[in-house]
Amino acid sequence: MKTNIIKILTIVAVAFGTTTLLQAGPPGKGNRFKASNSVEDVSSMKKGDKYVLVCKATNTATVCEVEDENDASQLCHDGGTIHCESCDKEYVITRSPKGKGGQFKIVNEDGKECMVVIPLKK
Ligand SMILES: [Zn+2]
Repeated sequence: MKTNIIKILTIVAVAFGTTTLLQAGPPGKGNRFKASNSVEDVSSMKKGDKYVLVCKATNTATVCEVEDENDASQLCHDGGTIHCESCDKEYVITRSPKGKGGQFKIVNEDGKECMVVIPLKK
């Protein structure tokens, strides 16, 4: 468990480093990062945007980078899967309602939400 906590702290430090960099940019918009279940939010991330994948089962957070726009929409693709490296399991993305403006969840085999996405958008 201790290793996990250290890991999270390191990742949070990295995430905050990014925040500081972003805040050095044009003022005005607040930079608040929180988990998002909004399909629109997540799928609108662009290449180079960073996001954090948090696994609730193992309390780990992984900072990832969007490699292309398809990558972002894959994160909230209904019926798609996300591989959790800490659990070494595939989790299923479910979406409701279908279509635009929907919400998505990443659930485990029991249908419980087990991973969340925190977009670190500029
Ligand atoms: Zn996991």
